[in-house]
Amino acid sequence: MGEQFVTEFNKSKEGALVVRSGPMLMRLQRVALPIIDAARKDWDVPYTLTLIKDSEINAFAVPGGPVYVNTGLMQLASTDDELASVLAHEVSHIVKRHSAQQLSDAAVKQGVAGILFGRSNADVRSVVGLTLSLKDREFSRGDESQSDEYGFKYLVAAGYNVRGMASMFTKMQDSATKSNEKLAFLSTHPLTRKRIEAAEKRAESYENGTWKSPK
Ligand SMILES: [Zn+2]
Repeated sequence: MGEQFVTEFNKSKEGALVVRSGPMLMRLQRVALPIIDAARKDWDVPYTLTLIKDSEINAFAVPGGPVYVNTGLMQLASTDDELASVLAHEVSHIVKRHSAQQLSDAAVKQGVAGILFGRSNADVRSVVGLTLSLKDREFSRGDESQSDEYGFKYLVAAGYNVRGMASMFTKMQDSATKSNEKLAFLSTHPLTRKRIEAAEKRAESYENGTWKSPK
């Protein structure tokens, strides 16, 4: 599924905007590497990273491993801890199979479940098209808080500053308020005051030694 998405994405309009070298890509890879190493212990899939030259503040993950990040998001994440927190959150959607579950639901509704499970040789493009549209699909609040929880676990394992998550969330919220429009990231990953508070509490409990890692 991930591979099909990547092939299809590269052929799309956005595919032409993929950044293939330079300091920003190097930063992305350097920051993501320890996060991916940590996530791999929970679910070992071929994680890949793609940087897209787009000022929109966004990042998304595809079932099976691909993670996409816009340059706009990287610019907002001024510290590596903040960038790591978004990457850890995205990787957690993959580990917890959130988009896969959504995809299955949507696929069943559209009658393409057979293709998904490899029981049909029918045109896979429809499934890939479905996946492409899923990058704009909103995750549930439950998925979001679970990804924050696991993301936090990977931040800790990778040795990042655990305050990075709350600080990144606050930045995104402020940026949305300032620009008076919904950030692309926030439209697919609904951010609430509760999520920010939970991230702050998680960091506090880590610092005072009462944090318990999710299994
Ligand atoms: Zn999310």
